[in-house]
Amino acid sequence: LEEQTIVKITFTPIKPQGQTEMVGLIAILQDVTEEEKLDRQRKDFVANVSHELRTPLTTIKSYLEALEDGAIGEPELAMRFLKVTRQEADRMTRLIHDLLQLSRLDAKQARFNKKAINLTNMLEDVVDRFSFQCKQKNIQISLHAGRYLPHVYADRDKIDQVLDNLVSNAVKYTPDGGKISVYAKHRANGMIEVAIQDTGIGIPKKDLGRIFERFYRVDKARSRNMGGTGLGLAIAQEIVRAHDGEIWIESEYQNGTTISFTLPPCEPEVIG
Ligand code: ADP
Repeated sequence: LEEQTIVKITFTPIKPQGQTEMVGLIAILQDVTEEEKLDRQRKDFVANVSHELRTPLTTIKSYLEALEDGAIGEPELAMRFLKVTRQEADRMTRLIHDLLQLSRLDAKQARFNKKAINLTNMLEDVVDRFSFQCKQKNIQISLHAGRYLPHVYADRDKIDQVLDNLVSNAVKYTPDGGKISVYAKHRANGMIEVAIQDTGIGIPKKDLGRIFERFYRVDKARSRNMGGTGLGLAIAQEIVRAHDGEIWIESEYQNGTTISFTLPPCEPEVIG
């Protein structure tokens, strides 16, 4: 048994037939660590969802009350309050969208439309999509893709979402003047590896092991201020796993983060 093992013990008395006297006991030891862990995760998840939904609602309610109590008579103030209210409603919409997507992925109901995809083109597109945001923060973003990268067998929209989540994190958590590099290479085992490296705030060692958990954030306030739902990495992980790939993170606190994932190559006959 390991140190953190949770064991359920059941005792059954042994009574020879026709006797009332017990002559012994059978003890059955069951390792229920995994069940307990799942049960705790499920309860934590429900508590987290409730909390995450209640927070914006509380804000919306208090701003509406302030408007009712007279702020509506001051147009400038009223506009500010309405803006906050709308932003919080947007956050709830994002959260519910992410939750529904996770629940479809969990239930294996998400449909994957896998095809041969030119990954280099996709990565060029994602770098283009973020170039404006990067420019605003004076962040240099660049792509380094291997020359003869095979096509990958993947669902384009879903992988786009993974890339959006990962690159938007890199932008969010990298201060002005930083650098983001996107790499793609063909690994010796045949899989295609994509890595997104930033020179941002990094993640402390103690948090690294839990970073893919739903709603786990290093700094809750910072993540909320940036509009994050705390589900981006969890969704990315589910999507990558549904492609038989792996996703992992390396990070050095205050120095930067690299998040990498793999995708299967396309069998030659599927291309074209
Ligand atoms: P969020 O919506 O909070 O960004 P994610 O699931 O995308 O949620 O990420 C979870 C947490 O992981 C973030 O709150 C942040 O603390 C940390 N994180 C993710 N990507 C990075 C990164 N590139 N640099 C530093 N921290 C990161």
